[in-house]
Amino acid sequence: MDFASYIRDIEDFPKPGVNFKDITPLLNNPEALNKACDVLCGFASHMHVDKVVGVDSRGFIFAPLIASRIGAGFVPVRKSGKLPYTTISESYELEYGSETLEIHTDAIRKGEKVLVHDDVLATGGTASAVCKLVEKLGGEVVQCNFLIELTFLNGAKKLNGYQIEALLQY
Ligand code: 5GP
Repeated sequence: MDFASYIRDIEDFPKPGVNFKDITPLLNNPEALNKACDVLCGFASHMHVDKVVGVDSRGFIFAPLIASRIGAGFVPVRKSGKLPYTTISESYELEYGSETLEIHTDAIRKGEKVLVHDDVLATGGTASAVCKLVEKLGGEVVQCNFLIELTFLNGAKKLNGYQIEALLQY
């Protein structure tokens, strides 16, 4: 399936100079949605996964679908102040300013195998912070998978040592 034909480029979003990959046409099409989920699950078919971690907010679209299909639990990682129970946090630098992500302290148990999912891998700051949260709780990141990897931003370098998979690369 030509997944790329369901990704829409939006120039200057959310700010001038950014070419944003809009995944909503893919979500809107029943066949593309289902097949994209097949491929994401296929990336992890050879491994045992206890938890799928999805990243606030577009990571929440596919992560629970993947978790449900492969028989794992779903764990949300959210921006600071959104999770109701006790959390640990990890901050990372953005182009301008910083971002803080949080996870519930009881979401992952020591030794659990964890798949990290987000819609897009750009500079890798987000996914790398998520991996640190998982590891602080004693989890083992067995794969990071994405719908889209923007290879020219070198996010894979920041995720050195982790297995990375993506449906589409630009
Ligand atoms: P990074 O931390 O790797 O630089 O950025 C990844 C995060 O930014 C992801 O959570 C992703 O949702 C968001 N992101 C960055 N660029 C894009 C884009 O072009 N399209 C979409 N859908 N999300 C993006």
